[in-house]
Amino acid sequence: MKFQKITVCLDMYGCPNRCRHCWLGVTPNGNLKVGDLTDVARAFRPFTGNLEVVDRYREEDFGDNYRDLWQIRAALSDTRTPHFENISCWRAARDLSYVPWLASLGVKAAQLTIFGDEAATDYYVGRRGAFKEILRTIEQLLRHGISPRLQTFIYKSNLDQLTYIRDLIAELDLELRCSAVGGQFAFFLHQGTCDGENEQFYDVWITPEDIDRIPPELIARTLKHFGADDMRDVLGEPEDRLCEQIAADTATKSIVTDSPVFHVDKDFNVYPNYETPSPIWCLGNLKTLGAERILANYVENRSPGQSVMNTVPLRDIGAAAGNPDSRRLFLRDDYERYLVNKYCRLMRQQELNP
Ligand code: SF4
Repeated sequence: MKFQKITVCLDMYGCPNRCRHCWLGVTPNGNLKVGDLTDVARAFRPFTGNLEVVDRYREEDFGDNYRDLWQIRAALSDTRTPHFENISCWRAARDLSYVPWLASLGVKAAQLTIFGDEAATDYYVGRRGAFKEILRTIEQLLRHGISPRLQTFIYKSNLDQLTYIRDLIAELDLELRCSAVGGQFAFFLHQGTCDGENEQFYDVWITPEDIDRIPPELIARTLKHFGADDMRDVLGEPEDRLCEQIAADTATKSIVTDSPVFHVDKDFNVYPNYETPSPIWCLGNLKTLGAERILANYVENRSPGQSVMNTVPLRDIGAAAGNPDSRRLFLRDDYERYLVNKYCRLMRQQELNP
């Protein structure tokens, strides 16, 4: 069994935040060793001529040895992806050499997530002090020629914070200051995918009339960021309409590709990078099954989520898990993933309580 490329991401240290929207799920942090990373690389190496090894799939650069890890993952990998534009505000607030290091790697833009004012942002990030760290990081980024890009997740519960964000962007003069360092300021908002921790917001999920509550300046910035003409292209369609579309869709799907990305959690359970690392998508434990069996499980669609997608027509998944009385907005692909997760949980409940 050979793949054109395999990317394997090991959750060595986890994340300092406990974001209420986290699609990756809030799970305990690990404290793995460099040897664990090399073991994971060694396990997958026989199955591809193009291996990329990554030392995290949650917070960037959270481990104190982040610079060493940057070199180590390069040594273990055939392909090298540039540093993501996701960065760690936690690290920036504690290590003044971090942002200059990012700049030295050629990072030109960095994405930060804000939910409103200090109280709102700290609440949604799940950590007191997060908002202040974001503001301090913005200043550091600009000092080192990196343009901040702000993202906001919106729910009915924080729509009233959007005017604060609009005013903050103006107060910090981000448009002009990004231009001054040769960059471009960007902002976008969206509801995120309804999975992982974010699914807890289903009850306050945005509906079409909420679009009128978004300040026009933030709508214009969001449309520009996505290259979209209409907020419906960004936020999707109401659930009742998606249910109608899906009711006629008899397709099944496989997510298997020749260049998969895998998430490996701190306990060495392996998941395809398609949905929240959770039992629904688990391919098995690397330590007990080995990479060959894990990869076979992937190719044979054996994780519960893959199996459902591959064998149950979407129409039937929608009939069991969709809500035709809801006007919540979803992008079609995100909604299908939400349905599969919900369907798997419903099936599990039925197994336990026949
Ligand atoms: S969204 Fe990112 S920063 Fe927040 S808990 Fe998840 S991995 Fe950590």
